[in-house]
Amino acid sequence: MSIILLSKGLVSRIAAGEVVERPAAVVKELLENSLDAGAHEVSVSIEGSGSTLIRVSDNGTGIPFEELALAVESHATSKLKEEADLFRIATLGFRGEALPSIGSVSRMEITSRTKGVETGGRLVVHGGKRGDPLRVGCPVGTTVEVRDLFMDVPARRKFLKSPATELSHISDVINRMALAHPEVHFRLDHGGKNLCDYVVTQRFQDRLGQVLGPDVARGMTSFSWKQGKVAASGFLSATPSSFPNSRYLMTFVNRRFVRDRVLTHAVLEGYETLLMKGRYPAVALFLEVPYGEVDVNVHPAKIEVRFRRQGEIHDAVVEAVRGGLRVEAKDPGAHARRSDVAAFEGVREGPRPYAPAFTTDTLALFRADALESRILPGAARRGFFSSLDVLGQALGCYIVCQSNEGMALIDQHAAHERVAFEKMRHQMEQGRVEHQDLLIPQMIELPVAEALLLEQWADAMDGLGFTVEAFGQNTFAIRSVPALFPAGDWRGVLGRMVAELAEIGKSAQISHELEERLMTIACHNVIRANRKLTLDEIHALLGELDGIDFATQCPHGRPVFVEFSQADLEKLFKRS
Ligand code: ADP
Ligand code: MG
Repeated sequence: MSIILLSKGLVSRIAAGEVVERPAAVVKELLENSLDAGAHEVSVSIEGSGSTLIRVSDNGTGIPFEELALAVESHATSKLKEEADLFRIATLGFRGEALPSIGSVSRMEITSRTKGVETGGRLVVHGGKRGDPLRVGCPVGTTVEVRDLFMDVPARRKFLKSPATELSHISDVINRMALAHPEVHFRLDHGGKNLCDYVVTQRFQDRLGQVLGPDVARGMTSFSWKQGKVAASGFLSATPSSFPNSRYLMTFVNRRFVRDRVLTHAVLEGYETLLMKGRYPAVALFLEVPYGEVDVNVHPAKIEVRFRRQGEIHDAVVEAVRGGLRVEAKDPGAHARRSDVAAFEGVREGPRPYAPAFTTDTLALFRADALESRILPGAARRGFFSSLDVLGQALGCYIVCQSNEGMALIDQHAAHERVAFEKMRHQMEQGRVEHQDLLIPQMIELPVAEALLLEQWADAMDGLGFTVEAFGQNTFAIRSVPALFPAGDWRGVLGRMVAELAEIGKSAQISHELEERLMTIACHNVIRANRKLTLDEIHALLGELDGIDFATQCPHGRPVFVEFSQADLEKLFKRS
């Protein structure tokens, strides 16, 4: 084997592989350039899966004729002037890699004109070979046509999926950009057919409706949070709307769509116990941080970022999301009343590329949501649960009540779980979880690694009400447990908590993860279903539900109660 220097062409193709892995990546880079150029109208046309043709036209500043050739050179950019700029990037692009990369794996034609000049220019780059710029007549702005993508890169071509799949990635890209740039009109055409036409709207919620569809958008409520130079705001789905995947969970940093573990984790932590396992919320989170606080130069496609103060950002997002949810929980459906959703109808929408995702399955989900979202009727909500007229208990686990609207069913197990959980959380926030000493300490033996962890986290455990003492090798005595919980065998619970600790291992997120565990504990150790309650116990439980936040969901995200309106009942009995 001998070492050789790779040819320039090969080097650029290797680099291209990182930037343009599929047609959607080309669309993303071209759109970023259009937005960086201040465009207000951007139009994307696709043929086939995008490998036949991708055309992006914008009405931005355009590229001066003299700079056309330079624009397609590697590492040529107008966006960084000096090295320090790299650490305060305000534009979407900065690497100067997109155009040369795309040009090295396709036949690319750039046509552009700047304001104030008569004629524009056109430049063709074919498989990395650049032609000479020609003078042509064209409107102000830039059009980039990319044909035969990956024609000389069979390896990459092979990985292209069906046109439908590639198109869905492309529309994802456009949708994210459209959310981050509501001031821009985006259009997508495929094979001559218009797939979306996101005209500029007055209110952000209308853009949300264009992109996610009015049904999802309607279920979302705004939130905002700001402290110092960090702001987190956006829209989130009020429970109980939830989705089987994280498709609608989108995070943006300084208007750049990013996939970020910390942000996603923080959003989900904000929802924490309000979602069932495996369910995801719809969230558009816009985080604004000083440019110097975030490094966007950690991923070739700029889709990941690194925060200087990761922990603070995480906590800020949790706060923001929780704040939004808390407002919503106190007054469910209020956001729908606040925002006149009717305005959606005024917006011309093409068929949404997201629409195919709405199978009948999803529709059923919306109906369930519609039912559940009436759980707290619009009128006076103070003491809602106490105001119910208790009729009895069914199957040993459902409390049957008459409400103002009709009939309400309460899952008593879920209700108990939620009450216990919220009390526990409250005690934790006050920094004093009440302990209850066990008459006879319970002994637990753990594997070495977990024993070490438990030792390390003994203080934190104590803060949660669990006092454990080392008792010989790898054995611990549980001396006290949270007073909120009834007597029981705590060894399994503690074992599970420690196993969880082993998985987290990150101090920043520990309190939440422990809380998550608590949720499980609460669920497993409070009153079990199928126990007959006395009327007094029922009233006490209803009173407690009124006293807590998030009374409508158990800590596992299951609903605590559902309500059937008179109309629902009449429909069931075919009286209407
Ligand atoms: P980068 O965006 O990282 O600077 P690119 O290779 O994407 O690198 O683009 C190179 C340069 O070409 C940009 O810096 C910009 O000056 C110019 N350019 C590219 N696309 C456009 C466009 N649509 N409108 C105006 N200028 C553009
Ligand atoms: Mg660019």
